[in-house]
Amino acid sequence: MTRETRAVISPAALRHNLGVAHRAAPDSRVMAVIKSNGYGHGLLRAARALRHADAFGVTCMEEAVPLREAGYAHPILLLEGLFDISELELARRYRLDMLVHSDWQVRMLETARPGRPLSVWLKVDSGMHRLGFAPGDVAAVCRRLADTAAVNDNIRFVTHLACADDRDDDSTTARQVDVFSACLRDLQGDRSIANSAGVLGWPITHADWIRPGVMLYGVDPFIDERSERPQLRPAMTLSSPLIAITQCAAGDFVGYGATWTCPEDMPVGVVAIGYGDGYPRHAGNGTPVLVNGRETQMVGRVSMDMITIDLRGLLDEVSIGDRVTLWGEGLPVERVAAHAGTIGYELLCGVTTRVHMEVERQDNEDGPGTDAV
Ligand SMILES: *Cc1c(COP(=O)(O)O)cnc(C)c1O
Repeated sequence: MTRETRAVISPAALRHNLGVAHRAAPDSRVMAVIKSNGYGHGLLRAARALRHADAFGVTCMEEAVPLREAGYAHPILLLEGLFDISELELARRYRLDMLVHSDWQVRMLETARPGRPLSVWLKVDSGMHRLGFAPGDVAAVCRRLADTAAVNDNIRFVTHLACADDRDDDSTTARQVDVFSACLRDLQGDRSIANSAGVLGWPITHADWIRPGVMLYGVDPFIDERSERPQLRPAMTLSSPLIAITQCAAGDFVGYGATWTCPEDMPVGVVAIGYGDGYPRHAGNGTPVLVNGRETQMVGRVSMDMITIDLRGLLDEVSIGDRVTLWGEGLPVERVAAHAGTIGYELLCGVTTRVHMEVERQDNEDGPGTDAV
C-alpha cells in the first residue's frame, strides 16, 4: 500500500471555468494562462482541458516548448519575453510570441541574426511599476520594433492590473485603463489588459484579449467582501486519508510547540499530509478541512508529513482510511489560504511531486485515457 495523498484534477471544472471567462467577456479572445505548471495542475493537463482557448500564456521556454511539442498549434505568449539572445532561435523554431518589456530586449531584437520574424506584444507599464515601458516611451519603442527585421508587422499591446482584485477600489484600475488607452491612441494593434479579476469584475478592461489565470482553476480572484461571487468550480481537490485517531483528555496538548490544548476530552485525527506535500505550514488552529464532506478544523501545527484535526462530534461517522479534503470540491482553496496568510495561487502552485496527481475520469468528449497527460 502506498501513501494515498492525492490531488485530483477535474478537466470538466477547467472547461466550465473557461466558459465563465468567455461568457464574461464575449467579445474578447481568451489567452489561457497556464504558467507555473498550469498553476500546479500540470502544464499539459491544463492545456488539454483548456484547448478551446484562443492562445496560451506561459512564463518561459521550459513551459512553451513542451506545449508545442505536444502538438498545440495555438499562439503561445512568453509573458516575460526572452531572457537571453540564446532563446531567439528557439522562439523562431517553435513559433512563440514574445512579450517585450525593456529596452535591452528591443536592442537584442535589433541586432538579431536574420530569420523568421516574430510576433511581439509590447508591454506598457500603466501604473503597476513592475514590467513595461513608460507610457511616454511607447510610441517610440513601437516605431523601433516596426523597423526591426526580427519583428513582424502585427505588434500588439499588453498591460497588467495591480488592484483589480478589489472591486471597491474603483480608481486604480480605471486610471490604469486610461493611461494604457491614452498612450496607444495613435497606434494600431490588439490590446490586452485583463487578468482574472479584470475579466470578472471590470468590463472596461476586456479589450481584444483577456488573460485569465487563477479563475480557470476555480479560484475566486477577489479580495473584497462583496456578496456576489463568481460561479467557478475548483479544478484541484487535494485529499489524504485519516491514518490515526487519538483520544485526548482535557488539558492535553497536540503537536509541535504545544500550540493547541484540548479544552475538553476530545478525539484528534491524524491526516497524512503536511508541508512536505505543499500544505501550508502557516495554516493555524482553526483552518477548515472536510472529513467525509463534513467541515471541521485543524488543531496544532502542520508537520512535514501530517496534520492533526478536531474530530469532536464526528467520531460516530469516521474511521481510519476515510478521506480528508484539504481544499477543492466543497472547500475553496482561498479559504484555506486566508488561514495561512497567503493566497490560493501560492497553495495551488506549491503542491509537491510527492502528491499523486490524477485526472478525474468522466464521460465526456475527453473520454477514457484522459489521465495519459
Ligand atoms: C499570471 C498573469 C496573468 C493571469 O493572472 P490571474 O490573476 O491568475 O488571472 C495575466 N497576465 C499576466 C501578464 C500574468 O503574468
